[in-house]
Amino acid sequence: MSYSIAIDGPAGAGKSTIAKLIAKRKGYIYVDTGAMYRAIALYFIEQGIQASEQDKMSEAVVNANVTISYENEEQIVWLNGRNVNGLIRTEEVGKMASLSSTNKDVRKKLVELQQALAKKENVVMDGRDIGTCVLPNANVKVYLTADSYIRALRRYEELKAKGQECELDVIEKDIIARDFQDMHRELSPLKQAEDAVLLDSSDMSIEQVADAIIHLCDKGAK
Ligand code: C5P
Repeated sequence: MSYSIAIDGPAGAGKSTIAKLIAKRKGYIYVDTGAMYRAIALYFIEQGIQASEQDKMSEAVVNANVTISYENEEQIVWLNGRNVNGLIRTEEVGKMASLSSTNKDVRKKLVELQQALAKKENVVMDGRDIGTCVLPNANVKVYLTADSYIRALRRYEELKAKGQECELDVIEKDIIARDFQDMHRELSPLKQAEDAVLLDSSDMSIEQVADAIIHLCDKGAK
């Protein structure tokens, strides 16, 4: 039986940084499910589909083939045979992903892919519905959150370091709007699974959070 660690939480809580670190320390595969939703969102944008056109999304998603592979421990997302890692980290794609991830056909396709991966590999998987829907029997479940101001500040510093122009209050507003959308959608809304451990990273370092999760694994959280 493969081992799985599920990490869910709102945007910018540090899920991917922490999940990557844990995957490295445990020798597991890191699965960034948000990147998959982003790849499908990119496909819709490229097809000229609007965020409100749910029927068109259901039709078009059949032709969006998303796969992942690994190179030097980095997850590469392929969209119809094209490496789209460099195209999916924009605000535009993030917003579209948050809207198109409400579509049941998009979710069905990606959840199946995620479950198949977790069946054959030991995984650290992060997203919004991993502990609640994708891997209800995950060995360890964590709901990772942080204050919205702190999350915005982290993103702001990340963008600044890349030399991108941005405003802290705009980033915070966007983060709050995306969380609201993710928490209030009908299908698989973002929420803490009943058996997930809540971690608030507002006053914790990356190492402290990773240690706390590794400790849960060692304790055999489930
Ligand atoms: O985590 P990231 O910001 O890359 O995710 C982009 C969007 O994809 C989220 O805002 C959310 O709407 C959607 N998503 C989801 N379920 C997941 C992962 C991401 O609905 N498991």
